[in-house]
Amino acid sequence: MHPFTLERPRDIAAALAFGAQPGRNDAPAEYIAGGTDMVQLLQENVRRPERLVSLAGLLDNRIDVGPQGLRLGAAATMAEVAAHPAVVEQFPVIAEALLNSASPQVRNQATTGGNLLQRTRCPYFRDIGYDACNKRAPGSGCAAIGGENRWHAVLGTSENCIATNPSDLAVALVALDAAIEVHGTGGQRTVPLADFHRLPGATPHIETVLEPGEVIAAITVPANPVARRSHYLKVRDRASFEFAIVSAAVALEMDGNRIQQARVALGGVGTKPWRVPPVEAALVGASLDPAALRPAAALAAAGAQGHGHNGFKIELMQRAIVRAVETAGARA
Ligand SMILES: Cc1cc2nc3c(=O)[nH]c(=O)nc-3n(C[C@H](O)[C@H](O)[C@H](O)COP(=O)(O)OP(=O)(O)OC[C@H]3O[C@@H](n4cnc5c(N)ncnc54)[C@H](O)[C@@H]3O)c2cc1C
Ligand code: SF4
Repeated sequence: MHPFTLERPRDIAAALAFGAQPGRNDAPAEYIAGGTDMVQLLQENVRRPERLVSLAGLLDNRIDVGPQGLRLGAAATMAEVAAHPAVVEQFPVIAEALLNSASPQVRNQATTGGNLLQRTRCPYFRDIGYDACNKRAPGSGCAAIGGENRWHAVLGTSENCIATNPSDLAVALVALDAAIEVHGTGGQRTVPLADFHRLPGATPHIETVLEPGEVIAAITVPANPVARRSHYLKVRDRASFEFAIVSAAVALEMDGNRIQQARVALGGVGTKPWRVPPVEAALVGASLDPAALRPAAALAAAGAQGHGHNGFKIELMQRAIVRAVETAGARA
C-alpha cells in the first residue's frame, strides 16, 4: 500500500477544503466513507492518493419518507435503507437492489453515497499487473477491448473504455428519477442521477460530474405512483455475493391489466446506469403477456454492441426486462 495521510476533519466544511475528488485516479486526495471499496483499491495499489479524507460522522444518515418522496442521507448504510419499512413498502425496487448487492457484512458498513461512487469491477482496472487501462492510467490503452470482456458493457462504450458501472442501487434510483444533493466549497447544487455519471468517451478516467471538493450529501427520489409497483431483477453468475451480468429495474402504474406508465433501467450492460425511454414509451398500453412485452423490450438493443465475449447480454437484457415487467405488474 502506498503511504498516505489520513485526515479526520472536525466538520464538513473542513473536509471539503481538502479538495478531494472521487472517481479519478489522478486525484491527489480522496474521501473515504465505509471504506468497503476504497480499502481494497488502496491495498491493491490501484489508488495511491496522498491524502485520504474521512467522512465518518460528517454526513447525515437519515432516511425520510414523506409526501415529496424519499430522501436518503449519504451516510445511511445499505443495510439501513434496505430494512427501512417505508422503503420496503413504497420503493421496493430500491430495497431489492440493495438486498441483491454484496453481503450482509458489507451492507452494514457501506454507505449509499459510497455505493454510487464505487469503482468499476473491470479486472484490468483492479489489477495493476496490466499496463493498459485508460481509466486507471489515461492514454495507456484498454486491455478489455480484445481481451476477456464477458462482464463488460454493450451500451455507452467508447474505443477507450467498455467498463460497466457496478452499482445495483444506481440502476433502481435512475429508474425512479432520483437526484443527487451535492455539497461543495462553492455551495450546494442538485444533479439528476441520470446526468451524474459520465460516458467514457475520450476521458474514461473522469467518471462523474463532481468537481474537486464536492461530496454527495443526500439522494432524493420524487414521489411517483410507479414506485410502489416496482421490482429489481438481477442476473448473475452465482446466487449471492456477485455483481450483475444483467439487471433490470422496473416501475409501473397499471390500469387494470394494461400498463399506464413505465420506468425501466438496466444494469450490467451500460457504462453508466442505463435508462431506456423508448422501451418505457412502447410499454404504455401493453398487457402483461410476455408476447406483448417482447417488442417493447427489443428497443433496448438499439445501439448495443458486443465486444467478443459479451454479445449474449444483448438478448439477455431483453429477457430480463420482460421478466421484471411481469413481476412488477403482478404486484398488488
Ligand atoms: C465483496 C463485495 C461485494 C460487493 N457486491 C456488490 C454488489 O453486488 N452490488 C453493488 O452495487 N455493490 C457491491 N459492492 C460494492 C459496495 O456496494 C461498495 O463497496 C460500497 O457501497 C461503497 O460504499 P462505502 O461507504 O464503503 O464507500 P468507500 O469505499 O468509502 O468509498 C467509495 C468511493 O466513494 C467515495 N465516497 C464515499 N462517500 C462519498 C460521498 N458522500 N461523497 C463523495 N465521495 C464519496 C470515495 O472517495 C470512494 O471513491 C460489493 C463490495 C464488496 C466488498
Ligand atoms: S474497460 Fe475501461 S476500466 Fe477496463 S481495461 Fe478498458 S479502460 Fe480500463
